[in-house]
Amino acid sequence: MTITYQVRNAIYVNLTNRCPCACTFCLRANGPGVYGSDSLWLEREPTVEEAIATLPQWDFKAYPELVFCGYGEPTERLDDLLAIARHVREHYPWVKIRVNTNGLADLIAGAPTVAKCKGLVDIFSISLNTPDPAEYLAICRPKFGEAAYPAMLKFAEDAHAAGIDVVMTVVDEPVTSKAKQAECRAICDRLGVRLRVRPFEA
Ligand code: SF4
Repeated sequence: MTITYQVRNAIYVNLTNRCPCACTFCLRANGPGVYGSDSLWLEREPTVEEAIATLPQWDFKAYPELVFCGYGEPTERLDDLLAIARHVREHYPWVKIRVNTNGLADLIAGAPTVAKCKGLVDIFSISLNTPDPAEYLAICRPKFGEAAYPAMLKFAEDAHAAGIDVVMTVVDEPVTSKAKQAECRAICDRLGVRLRVRPFEA
């Protein structure tokens, strides 16, 4: 089971395969039948202690960023994620802590979540995917239905207001047209956050 792994100059933490969405493009949709040997599929979720125990193997001077990511939505385990982040803050205070998220933490928790992330999360990278709520519903298929898109934008706004760096992401053409990218940029401008256009990988 791979709990932490290195990608470029960052260490990634893989806590869960759970997610309230079922994005049409998600690797999870292919299931362990296709990715059966892929170690990012967790046969069970690691405990906080197990995740922390993997950290000393990494040279955090060489990899100064910790990213909560994986085949799943990290904020499904927000309290555990924050416990690990707190440990990292104490033991590796120079490390930047990023959470790659669908931005639905408030709906998952049933309560606002940004306040408890303040001081522990440096960057939220939030998948915006599209400027169109109806299209979002069609491609991300969140179990929360129409409530999801506005909740994701509110989460971004709250995080920005709390002083957390927020980057919203879309995938470049052909997934997201230049016109839609411009609309996404306008949304980000309104929220005061940055837009990152990720390269398309076929
Ligand atoms: S939000 Fe991420 S983990 Fe969840 S279904 Fe979509 S792509 Fe997969």
